[in-house]
Amino acid sequence: MIEIDTRERVEIIDITSSIEEYVRKSSIENGICLVYTLHTTTGLTVNEAERGLIKDMCRLMSSLIPEGAGYLHDRIDSNAHAHLQALLLGNSVTIPVDAGRPILGTWQRILFIELDGPRRRRLYCRTISE
Ligand code: ZN
Repeated sequence: MIEIDTRERVEIIDITSSIEEYVRKSSIENGICLVYTLHTTTGLTVNEAERGLIKDMCRLMSSLIPEGAGYLHDRIDSNAHAHLQALLLGNSVTIPVDAGRPILGTWQRILFIELDGPRRRRLYCRTISE
């Protein structure tokens, strides 16, 4: 389990080094690593972590699914937009592992997306050896 204390309402956090450490400690050589968020208002993806692009991603999410646009779930806890944004992102990523390391392209980073923070968040990880 990886725990993250998010600091902002909406935040994209590069968790690549945490996943690399998890894979190293699992001591598998070849296989896959599953990373799965245990929350309904967060997402996971693999993309570039360039500062401007991170802001662009946050803007895209809020322009596609703006806050308070008459959602039924807002009657309960006012975070329907965050659930709906999470729907688009997905709740897991699977990374290939080769020679004990997660395989990522030059610009690929594993990104955790907070959509209704700040909160303590938990990611469940599992490696499967080939
Ligand atoms: Zn909710």
